[in-house]
Amino acid sequence: MTTTRRKFFQTAGAIAGASLLAKPLTAFSAPLAFAPKGSKKLTLTYRPYTLELTHVFTVATMSRKTTPVVLTEVEYDGVVGYGEASMPPYLGESQESVMAFLKRIDLGKYDNPFELETILTDIDAISTNNTAAKASVDIALHDLVGKLMGQPWFNIWGFNKNNTPTTTFTIGIDTPEVVRQKTKEAEIYKFLKVKLGGKNDKEMIETIRSVTDKPITTDVNQGWKDKHYALDMAFWLKEKGVVLLEQPLPKERTKDLAWLTEQSPIPIIGDEGVQRLVDVKKAEGIYSGINIKLMKCTGMREANKMIAMARSLGMNVMIGCMTETSCGISAASHLSPMADWADLDGNLLISNDCYDGVKVVNGKVTLSDAPGIGIRKV
Ligand code: MG
Repeated sequence: MTTTRRKFFQTAGAIAGASLLAKPLTAFSAPLAFAPKGSKKLTLTYRPYTLELTHVFTVATMSRKTTPVVLTEVEYDGVVGYGEASMPPYLGESQESVMAFLKRIDLGKYDNPFELETILTDIDAISTNNTAAKASVDIALHDLVGKLMGQPWFNIWGFNKNNTPTTTFTIGIDTPEVVRQKTKEAEIYKFLKVKLGGKNDKEMIETIRSVTDKPITTDVNQGWKDKHYALDMAFWLKEKGVVLLEQPLPKERTKDLAWLTEQSPIPIIGDEGVQRLVDVKKAEGIYSGINIKLMKCTGMREANKMIAMARSLGMNVMIGCMTETSCGISAASHLSPMADWADLDGNLLISNDCYDGVKVVNGKVTLSDAPGIGIRKV
């Protein structure tokens, strides 16, 4: 199949570019004719999996050593797409709730796997929340459709894979010894993300600065309570080479956040306060930019719309992640050419990744040309 498909694209490439562009339907539908023969019915399967973290991870609100995920597969005509739901504790999902949600989905009723808009709108309407569960199907369907087309998603969307940003590597709240050790381990990364909102914020930054002068992004995870303290910190952090401040105050404090955004010398980015497409317009004026994560916005399709909306409002875009395997991280990476900053290190913080996908090369998110989201099982 691969050889036949390659021949098809070589032939298509030999045709003048203009005529190829004039016939997009032919170009996209032809590879389907060579697809392997299997059941022409969409089927969804899933299983729970527990990610083991390399270090105990502490943010302003909690500590943990494992992360529960659910791995999904969608099959059509002998081709399998992979997906994943990672459960951020603050969204209130669990392996049980994700699997209960997935049980309610009947993909068998759709004849055309390319109808992502129809299928994903229907799935979104099943319940109000369950965003990680929805993302697990969205990602698997995107992987499947990309494979059926024989194209990676950055190509389907028309993004330049060379425009991917450098990714930050996250350092959680910890003792100076551990922070120094983690900073040294992060030598290959050109950008660090530091979790603040603990008792020793300045000590965290000073400790890292004793080891490296790399640029830093900071994330308070709603941990500060006073807007004047937040503003003083923003000025202090800028002096220390910090380029942005994520969710410094609780998401409900929109007036204080808007005040801070107006006064701050570095961009204030909304994460917990901006989950879905509908939140982006509301975020205008409250934050300078938004942190988009597949697990909170229901997946690749909505994330892409959020980027377009944020850009139309003149806002910055960061692509972030939860602790995820290379499945979720690779899916998000296909959007990263459109982001100002990427925080896509979730797969690098675990010791039992079950997929191989996107790589960090010289600190930069580096996408492969493999179709779909570009991953394989390991
Ligand atoms: Mg955050």
